[in-house]
Amino acid sequence: MSSSSLPTAADVVIIGGGFAGVATAWALARRGVTDVVLLEREAALGKHASGRGAGLGRQLVDTDATTALTVRGAALLRGPLADAWCETGSVLGFADTAEADAYAARAARFGVPVERMDRVADGELGRRWPGLAGAAPAAALHVPTDGVIDVVRLLAQLEAAIDARVFTDAAVLGLEGGRAAGEPHLVRTARGTISARVVVEATGAWAGQLLGAPPLTVVKRHLFVVEDSAGTTAGPWLWQLGAQELYVRRHADGTLSSACDATPAAPGDYAVESGAEAAFRARLATAQPDLARAALVRAWACVRTFTRDRQMKLARDSSRPWLVWAIGLGGHGATASPAIGEAVAAAVVDALEG
Ligand SMILES: Cc1cc2nc3c(=O)[nH]c(=O)nc-3n(C[C@H](O)[C@H](O)[C@H](O)COP(=O)(O)OP(=O)(O)OC[C@H]3O[C@@H](n4cnc5c(N)ncnc54)[C@H](O)[C@@H]3O)c2cc1C
Repeated sequence: MSSSSLPTAADVVIIGGGFAGVATAWALARRGVTDVVLLEREAALGKHASGRGAGLGRQLVDTDATTALTVRGAALLRGPLADAWCETGSVLGFADTAEADAYAARAARFGVPVERMDRVADGELGRRWPGLAGAAPAAALHVPTDGVIDVVRLLAQLEAAIDARVFTDAAVLGLEGGRAAGEPHLVRTARGTISARVVVEATGAWAGQLLGAPPLTVVKRHLFVVEDSAGTTAGPWLWQLGAQELYVRRHADGTLSSACDATPAAPGDYAVESGAEAAFRARLATAQPDLARAALVRAWACVRTFTRDRQMKLARDSSRPWLVWAIGLGGHGATASPAIGEAVAAAVVDALEG
């Protein structure tokens, strides 16, 4: 939905039209909160991290707190948002068997079915899924209920289901007023000023520029689509964890892969760095030699944003009761997005009532 003239007031103003902002609007609509305005600086939603991810729907991640969000997110992706989800399964590869044990224990805690693979060193992955031939981590877990997310379709699906009035080309320039209890906050944008009872900060890598967010780390990552020269068939995607981290998944145009680079960066819009493709091919040379030689279809770069403790911040500000954070989504914001929306919407309702 899109409107041309900015209203002068709304119960809730959401700043940022990536997964954090759009999923919050979606979850607010499901709770019956409809006087919502979403403001996005770009000409369309999802132009930054949310539209440029790898689309890996990974439920088991490095902490229980984030796993709670990704598991709930995947459940919603299989349910009301299923048009954007394809259940391919995944294989998580580990350099260290103790880490595989920790992930298996996490899977048990969250009720995620996994199959421990015992003969990976002996080529078990390639025998079962020819596309993963070459990968021989020390240990592996097959997660049959993981999947692939069509991120563009997911954003469109979330947007179609929201009641919020969405304004693009609407950069927020600053916030004013609202010092006294109950006084509305004035959100100043390039297209006019709007007063809001509650403001949601969902500006991704730019969080903090308006409201002084907690310290964030922004890191750049490259993704590559190469021709599927190995003639691989459908099957689970692979995420090899540890020092030689990489991931590989089938893609409409070939095979999508990343060497999981994470170079510190400022918030921004990035082109592919010179040298990134060579580094990517070098990383794949041992684990995926066919892919390491395959012709490039396309490549892109984008940034991921983490809080200092790497936990997403989806909560009311401790000293500004009118402000709700939806920041630090890191590398799992697509999978977790519907659950992120639910958590932030709960905090918004709390702020509206409090
Ligand atoms: C290369 C890469 C691969 C990834 N792969 C996966 C994956 O496989 N699986 C997965 O689950 N997740 C993945 N992710 C993570 C996921 O994409 C992010 O966690 C998520 O998209 C972050 O969403 P966001 O809304 O916080 O940020 P963004 O998508 O960046 O949205 C923030 C929005 O705020 C807007 N904005 C900023 N300042 C203002 C302002 N002043 N006024 C108005 N608007 C403003 C920006 O224009 C932007 O559109 C990946 C990310 C990257 C970069």
